[in-house]
Amino acid sequence: MKLVIKNIGQILSGKIEEPIFEGDCLIAIDGKISEWGKEKDLDIEEADTLVDAHGVTLAPGLIDSHIHPVVGDYTPRQQQLHWIDSTLHGGVTTMISAGEVHMPGRPKDVVGLKAMAIASQRWYENFRPSGVKVHAGAPVIEHGMEEHDFKDLADAGVKLLGEVGLGTVKDGKTAHQMVEWARKYGIQSTIHTGGPSIPGSGLIDADMVLETGTDVVGHINGGHSALPDDQIICLCESCKAALEIVHNGNERAALLTLNTARELDKLDQVILGTDGPAGSGVQPLGIMRMVAMLSSLGNVPAEVAFCFANGNTSRQRDLDVGLIEKGKSADFVLMDQAQHAPGKNLLESVQLGNLPGVGMTIIDGVVRSERSRNTPPAERLPEIIT
Ligand SMILES: [Zn+2]
Repeated sequence: MKLVIKNIGQILSGKIEEPIFEGDCLIAIDGKISEWGKEKDLDIEEADTLVDAHGVTLAPGLIDSHIHPVVGDYTPRQQQLHWIDSTLHGGVTTMISAGEVHMPGRPKDVVGLKAMAIASQRWYENFRPSGVKVHAGAPVIEHGMEEHDFKDLADAGVKLLGEVGLGTVKDGKTAHQMVEWARKYGIQSTIHTGGPSIPGSGLIDADMVLETGTDVVGHINGGHSALPDDQIICLCESCKAALEIVHNGNERAALLTLNTARELDKLDQVILGTDGPAGSGVQPLGIMRMVAMLSSLGNVPAEVAFCFANGNTSRQRDLDVGLIEKGKSADFVLMDQAQHAPGKNLLESVQLGNLPGVGMTIIDGVVRSERSRNTPPAERLPEIIT
């Protein structure tokens, strides 16, 4: 199956070291990126799907590094249906669970939590809401888990831990041991950084984050309550892990993280999530809003801010999406400057704090949505020719 996208205005690569690629045309074969560049240099004949981008910007589909799904496209947290489909309309094509913690009656005994994690991994692998890739099955560690439990989980296909600290394990020593067991068997980990999110959860401070040593510093800007500034700065200085900024966190702390990471030359470690569904609801445009907020208030070129939302996350989490690279999944968002948004072009309008207008999403080389029902309308729209 051959997908050709022609008349692309600009290609955002997801690569922070070179965020804009030359070219007006991209070809994907069997759902994987094959070639890009000038149309005249590429073989665009015999396309199964031909998209005329009409001059809009193409970027790797956005990644939400921090969601709390439960089942299908329903969340009991705020009793909402189709929140994943709505988020696809915000340009997000991949989502990563930080724990299926909103499941009513969630089991907390070891055999029960393992069973639910395995089932969650399966039900999102077997069913992708609106085509969105949801990486789920992220158990929350509890006291009593032993090394063989992590091996069992990994053998059964579990690849993630939910946020450390949302369960009974709230001391760094135990958490570190379990995260090490998880890592030994190829399971990635994240942690709830900051104050309690809802009644019943607890404080995780910088010392606990550092002692635990997860692969991702989950919501470094709090979810919702942020740590004091000196602790956030300490985490930025000390951590080689991904520094995850979320929509549902403290926006001032988000900017502190961004500015500190920039001073430390660690912008490649910055990744974005929404932390939805949660007390703040769901945010279909949350990742786009983070890109616009960090670009405008944090004074980051928009093409770099987009890398926080795709390429950086891909690299930090070892995904096959989020980068324009031969062999990566053909997952894209096509977008243009929103109608009547100030700025000379898409990137300038985003750096002025405006959202882009999404015109199309593509996952595995298949068009999944056309003009977004959620973003402001774009000036130009891509069109399916065949
Ligand atoms: Zn959290």
